[in-house]
Amino acid sequence: MTVPELEAMLVSMKQPKFRAKQIFKWLQSGVETFDEMTDIPLSLRQELDEKTYIANVKIVKRLKSQIDGTVKYVFSLFDGEYIESVFMKYEHGYTVCISTQVGCRMGCSFCASGLNGLTRSLTASEMLSQIMTAGKDNNVRISNVVMMGMGEPLDNFNNSIRFLELVSCEEGLGIGMRHISLSTSGVVTGIEKLKDYNFPITLSVSLHAPNDLIRTKMMPVNKKWNIQKLLKACKDYQKVTGRRISFEYALIDGVNDSKECALELAHILKGIMCHVNLIPANPVKENSFKKPDKIKIFKFQKQLADLGINATVRRTLGADIDASCGQLRKRIKDGESIDI
Ligand code: SAH
Ligand code: SF4
Repeated sequence: MTVPELEAMLVSMKQPKFRAKQIFKWLQSGVETFDEMTDIPLSLRQELDEKTYIANVKIVKRLKSQIDGTVKYVFSLFDGEYIESVFMKYEHGYTVCISTQVGCRMGCSFCASGLNGLTRSLTASEMLSQIMTAGKDNNVRISNVVMMGMGEPLDNFNNSIRFLELVSCEEGLGIGMRHISLSTSGVVTGIEKLKDYNFPITLSVSLHAPNDLIRTKMMPVNKKWNIQKLLKACKDYQKVTGRRISFEYALIDGVNDSKECALELAHILKGIMCHVNLIPANPVKENSFKKPDKIKIFKFQKQLADLGINATVRRTLGADIDASCGQLRKRIKDGESIDI
């Protein structure tokens, strides 16, 4: 709930409006029960407990990298579902990669999150709680957020917008939108709607292929909105927001890593103010694909650079706790026990 929504609720409960900000602050500090709200009268705490609930996520598993301190979490939700988040330390601060749905219905061939389809979308509170819980668990303030965990944020549009508004508001965690990235597989209608909010977030678009033939094989969403439609939406988005777009490109050996692919990619991205993020594909147990070797990856990057396309290879964090996005949750759901 936003502060005005809390105020309206309190008024309907015949309580003073000013309590709203106090309660909001408590919620943002990550309290788990109303009893922890010590400056709220006991009777109101009890009434809140009867009429509402706090949608906190709970830590089920925690895998900490001994190399760089990256922590992967499996969180449980109030209805027994599981999601994953990752806590990372960068030079410019602490980042949390959050999930926006339980599972995903987009069905990309290389991704573990979509293997069992979509179970349900997350509420804005469940997205916020991933950040608060990771911050609290590591005893630090989180300064950056990436919506790149499990799920397609634009397939959960209203809750993602609500989350962006809540996480950036000054009474809340106050994480500025400039420090938030939203990643989409290319839900064109969602990009069009998002454009009208004109948020200063970074839009990351999972392109992964330079033509429809390859992209449709990797990402069923391409049948609905092909590359031409997607790039048109990106250009329109850029016109309105003035923001540089980040294109994600997961390199898969023998699939989308040839010299021709680099040439084609550079060609279709001409004229878009963008950055290409090359991600060596993370192997998924259920699939047989591999990432290209290092030389091939840097060759691909150089080919793009020679054609004037700004591209970087994503740094691998938490290599020793490697489990592709969505894999940990799947293993736990399948009943496998994971030692920590
Ligand atoms: N659904 C959104 C955001 C979550 S996925 C999207 O698809 O953009 C976050 C990123 O991880 C996407 O770029 C996605 O394509 C990528 N990804 C998924 N599985 C991967 C894998 N096995 N290896 C490398 N990148 C992967
Ligand atoms: Fe969903 Fe993104 Fe995975 Fe595709 S890559 S299945 S859109 S989470």
